[in-house]
Amino acid sequence: MESAVDLDWFGKEPSQGVRKIWRALQVLFFGLGVGLLVLLGIKPKLGLNLFWNLWIPLAPALLLLIPGFWRNVCPLATGSLIPRRFSLALGLRAGRLTMGFFRGLGVLALLIIVPLRHPFFDHDASLTLLLFALLIFSALVFGMVFEWKAGWCAGACPIHPVERLYGKRSLAQFSNVQCDHCASCVPRCPDSIPNDRPFRGKRSGFFQFLDGAFFPGFFPGFIWGWFQVPNFLGHWIWGDLVSTYSYPLLGGLFTLFLFSVLLALIPQQRRPLLPLFFANIAIGCYYWFRIPALFGMGPYPGDGMLINLKASFPGWIEPLIHLGVFLLMLLWFLRGIQRKSSSWLHRPRISSTLR
Ligand code: SF4
Repeated sequence: MESAVDLDWFGKEPSQGVRKIWRALQVLFFGLGVGLLVLLGIKPKLGLNLFWNLWIPLAPALLLLIPGFWRNVCPLATGSLIPRRFSLALGLRAGRLTMGFFRGLGVLALLIIVPLRHPFFDHDASLTLLLFALLIFSALVFGMVFEWKAGWCAGACPIHPVERLYGKRSLAQFSNVQCDHCASCVPRCPDSIPNDRPFRGKRSGFFQFLDGAFFPGFFPGFIWGWFQVPNFLGHWIWGDLVSTYSYPLLGGLFTLFLFSVLLALIPQQRRPLLPLFFANIAIGCYYWFRIPALFGMGPYPGDGMLINLKASFPGWIEPLIHLGVFLLMLLWFLRGIQRKSSSWLHRPRISSTLR
């Protein structure tokens, strides 16, 4: 069985030249992030369109194909690690209990924030900016208190559960250029250990439940439910919050139930494939709805639309997109069951104080 391609041209211990390339990429992505914030402030409509209808739809594919690349260049990660890089962080390491708490917090934040896109974030640049401000503040605080990625990138970041779910069979491994050295900041580094190997030993039950059952089972239905709700443009009432949350939550509970039934039915040795299968359903469901909506062919006209091409496209384009998404996800799953999972990044050299 093959695993991910080891991109040796980036090197396990990258040379100074390679590090400079990565630093340039980090600066570029950081600059893009800051530019987007500025755009949201001065050209709200364009900023909202570029963020929610261009960047966010690209992100799941990036997390599926090359999560390690994203882990190296994510602007929030770069910001969160600035205090540590300049030795301004307290540098606390997270034990299993703390990590479990942070991981739970990250999942909760994701499940609370995403439905709020319909009534608020998707069409209100000020609220999207406020959301960013909260995320940046949280990332910075976690980065100032905890060692390397223990607080944010491997802990409370709301995107981290999605990275773990989608990035199970990534295409390529990279060197880790965010952590200067490994300080064993968390019990199981999500960057350095294949993420579908469950926690073992004492106090591992929560992680096995979260990563091995709850999130993979819940997320596909959550996504399906999210697409059943329209944006509430300017005239929402408090009652709309009920449908905002009820569809994703009920959808999530339904697929979690299916997941649990299948988990009980299939043989033990096949069980690790179930999260992989559900991860494919989740991302497939996302693009099934999202790609047509980007071009004005979604169920709610105008919602999530990057550019309106509905009039220019023939009627068979939408079923063709659905078929393409279905086939791609099927192929990705078949590829996944033939491959070993591998880590996203190479672990950097271990800190001398730990040796
Ligand atoms: S490589 Fe080491 S320091 Fe970096 S996130 Fe992983 S465990 Fe923490």
